[in-house]
Amino acid sequence: MPNFTSPAIVLRRIDFGDYDIILTLFTLNKGKISVIAKSAKKSTRRFGGILELFSVLDIVCSFRMDRDLMILQEADLKNSFSGIRADLNKTAYACYFAELVSEWTESEAKQEDLYLLLCHVLEQIDAGSISEEVSAIMFLMRFASIAGIRPNLLRCSICRLELDKIKEERVAFDFSKSGIICQKCAGRSVSRLSLSIGTIKQLLWVESGGLKKAGKIKFTPLAIKEGLDLLEAFISYHLGKEMKSLKFLKQIRKK
Ligand SMILES: [Zn+2]
Repeated sequence: MPNFTSPAIVLRRIDFGDYDIILTLFTLNKGKISVIAKSAKKSTRRFGGILELFSVLDIVCSFRMDRDLMILQEADLKNSFSGIRADLNKTAYACYFAELVSEWTESEAKQEDLYLLLCHVLEQIDAGSISEEVSAIMFLMRFASIAGIRPNLLRCSICRLELDKIKEERVAFDFSKSGIICQKCAGRSVSRLSLSIGTIKQLLWVESGGLKKAGKIKFTPLAIKEGLDLLEAFISYHLGKEMKSLKFLKQIRKK
């Protein structure tokens, strides 16, 4: 079988025995894969210490017929994201994105849009051009779309009244209906969260158009708080659990 080559982002890294490292990689050409890097732990000569979390690599792997794991033969570092690694808050956000992609995606299912989105937000956070909070809102909104769980923010999920025609300043969000609920219908829903109309409009803007344009939207502090609360809870609801990385992020965000 020929070797497999692809750009790849390191999502997870675990030591395996005394010598080897097992990596979960999100590749452009094949989606999520697991590889074993032989002797990577024992000797830094082989991979030069580049097999770090979030690093973007160009990889060459060979297949093994007997196991699920591919063997990492070569890796070239494309981006180490040293700006993320040097900052605890940035690291916490990047861990959350990486765990989310790892948890959600199936092995060996190509997801080019998600790969490009993850690369883009990591670059953005690394450079510090946009706050981690706004990058997270952008990532989570677009992740939801790609994952097929896009929240309905355009009209009441019960009576279908359009957002522009809702007179109140705040509406409820119902997780089981995956969408907003106008005040008239609120009694018929087990809502969990309240959102201002302004926040909803900003969430809709960040989802439309190119990634660069989305990064230029000015979020109000209220929209950042409400947007993150909504999206983090919404994604956890769909995953059926709150991931470790999100618990950690919430802990350090308080400080
Ligand atoms: Zn309604």
